[in-house]
Amino acid sequence: MTKPRIHVLALGGTIATRPDASGAMQMGLGADDLVAAVPLLEGVAKIEAETVSRVGSHSLGIDLIHTLAAKIRGLETDGVVVTQGTDTLEETSFLLDLLLDLDIPVVVTAAMRNPSLTSPDGPGNLLAAVRVAADPWVYKNAKALGVLAVMLDEVYAAADVAKVHPTRINGFAATQAGPLAALVEDRVVPMTMPVRDAVVAARRKLGTAGGKPAPVALFWTSLDDALPLVLLMLAASDRVGYRGAVIAAMGGGHVPERAVDNVVRLAKAMPTVISPRTGGGPMLRKTYAGPSSEIALREAGLIWGGRLHPLKGRVLLETCLRAGLDRKAIAELFDTFG
Ligand code: ASP
Repeated sequence: MTKPRIHVLALGGTIATRPDASGAMQMGLGADDLVAAVPLLEGVAKIEAETVSRVGSHSLGIDLIHTLAAKIRGLETDGVVVTQGTDTLEETSFLLDLLLDLDIPVVVTAAMRNPSLTSPDGPGNLLAAVRVAADPWVYKNAKALGVLAVMLDEVYAAADVAKVHPTRINGFAATQAGPLAALVEDRVVPMTMPVRDAVVAARRKLGTAGGKPAPVALFWTSLDDALPLVLLMLAASDRVGYRGAVIAAMGGGHVPERAVDNVVRLAKAMPTVISPRTGGGPMLRKTYAGPSSEIALREAGLIWGGRLHPLKGRVLLETCLRAGLDRKAIAELFDTFG
């Protein structure tokens, strides 16, 4: 049987670090190094390795992910694996999911433990990611699965995956829907399919979102905070340059009563999305009364972010603004996320 061709694209991150003279870890390894460190890959796929960047994922740019998506669209291959840092994997994988509409698997992976530690997870995660990208069931269902993340022998949907711990080896989870598949021995064991209607509908409106960058601010609500920074930002909006905002709101979609005026002012100035600061899950729409309730905020023009994590909501809003969608179209698009 001929082995599938899998293209490995390396961006950097802990998975690609090596120690410098002081013993501190520096980004440095490229795709060839990562592949060479896992001889078992040879038995799974015909690997093509390409280094795109050598940066920590905390320093990746949205533009670079757009360039990466364009590169992936142009590849002649049976599957793609992207290696990067863990810090922004939940954002980059979701952005790729919004930008790509391919018939081949696209899998993002990373490492929580660097190569100088005992039991680093990079090599195992790369092998698992390639196994997933080369798997016949995944290939057959690639379009329905969308972009996948593979960490510690679990497969997650890009819209759900989240980094849930800063250092632990099991630092990833899909908090809303759970993993789609598991790896055991040399097998990928499917468990469930993701519900991606909203992503698919969004992608239809977004196209390849080829416009100019549209920076989006993220505000986190917290006990007794009136969000006065919103006013400063609006007063200096030319210099600051934000074109949209996401408010990570409390509970079912509430903000402190002291913050309501500022939040409503923000929503009048630019598309402003309310997302759940709990990290995901559908919010309320019509339960509570009062000025800081979800009913009042929705009536005041806040866009309802649905079940998406605020970080993913921010990625989606930036993509919408880049694609030139107006406020009404953005609200309709977010509405499909629950
Ligand atoms: N700061 C690193 C990065 O995201 C952490 C990691 O890779 O795990 O690139």
